[in-house]
Amino acid sequence: MVLSAGLVGLILVTLCVLHFGALPYFDRDMNALLAPVSYPVSERTRAFHERTFVADMHADSLLWRRKLQQRNRRGHVDLPRLRDGGVDLQVFSVVTSVPYAMNLESNRGDSDKLPILFLAAWRSPATWFSPRARALAQARELAELARLSSLSIVLRQGDLAGGGIKGLLSLEGMHALDAGPDALDEFYAAGFRMMGLAHFFDNEVAGSAHGVDRYGLTAFGRSLVSRMEALGVTIDLAHASPAAFADTLEIARKPVVVSHGGVHGTCPGPRNLSDAQLRGIAANGGVVGIGYWKAAVCDASLQGITAAIRYAVRVAGVDHVGLGSDFDGTVAMPFDTSGLPMLTQSLLDAGLSEDDVAKILGTNLRRVLAANLPR
Ligand SMILES: [Zn+2]
Repeated sequence: MVLSAGLVGLILVTLCVLHFGALPYFDRDMNALLAPVSYPVSERTRAFHERTFVADMHADSLLWRRKLQQRNRRGHVDLPRLRDGGVDLQVFSVVTSVPYAMNLESNRGDSDKLPILFLAAWRSPATWFSPRARALAQARELAELARLSSLSIVLRQGDLAGGGIKGLLSLEGMHALDAGPDALDEFYAAGFRMMGLAHFFDNEVAGSAHGVDRYGLTAFGRSLVSRMEALGVTIDLAHASPAAFADTLEIARKPVVVSHGGVHGTCPGPRNLSDAQLRGIAANGGVVGIGYWKAAVCDASLQGITAAIRYAVRVAGVDHVGLGSDFDGTVAMPFDTSGLPMLTQSLLDAGLSEDDVAKILGTNLRRVLAANLPR
């Protein structure tokens, strides 16, 4: 009796240490800020940024179970800081599996370091073992955030209109479907309106740019692409293997996104886009989100991000480039989302017109989402 009471006590203490100690520590440590950037923003730019539709294609903020309705002193995104950054639409990406010893070159999908994070976040035991359960739990948490705040969730075309901050739910890697054809409908019902084919490892749908075999779309993947288009789910080619990237562009009937990443032209890397891939996205009518972290832009500064955006604009055209921060994606950033007006100023200072910057800041993504979302 004494032993079992001691054991229960030990488990409770461990859960508290994980929740109140380890989880905030990892969040702060892994989603850090680099040396603070300060770049003067003119009154004119501030007013322009404020009236412009600003959208970010990728932030993993749901993973950390931060209270996103309030201002946090860790991580990169929460609603008050989205408001400070003039953001109108944030895509909330959902991560469901990360291999041990994760690297950018070659990963297998047979190990997973997320169970401890889901345990530490006091999520249900189902999420300790199942990527599918982790995805659905984060979808419920976004719905809960919308109930607690003024955030509205984008589910259909009409939801893109109107004021206030909007959130759109995205899945990072279709391994989370557990290869069930009905799972796509289940995820759609849970609110997912964007899905990346693969994350760090090859799966039943497609090869990953960081996988072992890096194959193209599987037969199952091909059937899912048409099903996603029919439902109104935007396809995300970030992390897809070059073969899966090409296969998808060949059969896609709707514009796709590459939600977050960089370009070979300023930063070579396993999943940064070649000029041919940039042109492929342009031909598809899609949009590429430029990220702000080191592996995406090599120089994780305002200047480095601006250079990658300008390069992508030169190769793909200004209608096919957008923002894809990867905030809260276990990366160190030069600024959090409240710093976005500085990026606007930097793009204008680099010689882009206000019309072009408005496209990059958000209207390109809005066009692609409107072409995909159900009526
Ligand atoms: Zn990612």
